[in-house]
Amino acid sequence: MAFGISDELLGTFVPIAVYWLYSGLYILLDGFDKYRLHTRAEEAEKNVVSRSSVVKGVLLQQAVQVIVSLLLFMVVKDDTAVAPKQPSILVIATQFAVAMFVMDTWQYFMHRYMHINKFLYKHIHSKHHSLIVPYAFGALYNHPAEGLILDTIGGVLSFLISGMTPRTSIFFFSFATIKTVDDHCGLWLPGNILHVFFRNNSAYHDVHHQLYGNKYNFSQPFFTTWDKILGTHMPYSLENRKEGGFEAKPIKRD
Ligand SMILES: [Zn+2]
Ligand SMILES: [Zn+2]
Repeated sequence: MAFGISDELLGTFVPIAVYWLYSGLYILLDGFDKYRLHTRAEEAEKNVVSRSSVVKGVLLQQAVQVIVSLLLFMVVKDDTAVAPKQPSILVIATQFAVAMFVMDTWQYFMHRYMHINKFLYKHIHSKHHSLIVPYAFGALYNHPAEGLILDTIGGVLSFLISGMTPRTSIFFFSFATIKTVDDHCGLWLPGNILHVFFRNNSAYHDVHHQLYGNKYNFSQPFFTTWDKILGTHMPYSLENRKEGGFEAKPIKRD
């Protein structure tokens, strides 16, 4: 317990606060045109959905996320009302790694299936792809069913299989949220620390949001492993755009 608020409540609400705070930070960087992956004109032309609809869509998905999360914690909570003791840092690191693997695996296969199955793509996943030019707070702009299947159930499985405590989950889900927002930020910022550790980044996921990348780069949110193993990896080179900023250009595959 911290300040009388349970770890379960923190694990539910902190990642949502992190989502808006971190994407709010990117709104403050909105003037950094020289680091954009697409021009503003391209964003206005290609994104068919308004920013206010995106905010509403994300809030709806987060409402579903809150309900499932609170239900999960109610089910797994033991009756002693004492928060489980935190294991050693080594155990926590292992649980983090397991949770990352589980989330990546679940999301890769479900995400890929949503592209293969025409019905699911048309009625569910296409909503996320209506943002051809992604931006930070559009990261969780999904059909509620997709939010539930990909993100929320993926989170539940990561939590249960890794065996992490609700307290660890506050950090894990906040980190996963930061990663997802960062991958949709639409900028290639120099010195982004996440780019040092992860090849799966804003440029990698940007390729997936383009029409030519629609059958590639399904991996999310952490690694690119499943794309590489299963042949859906589309390499790209980051080039300077003549109008300013960058462009993630696919490298021709043989
Ligand atoms: Zn997709
Ligand atoms: Zn996306």
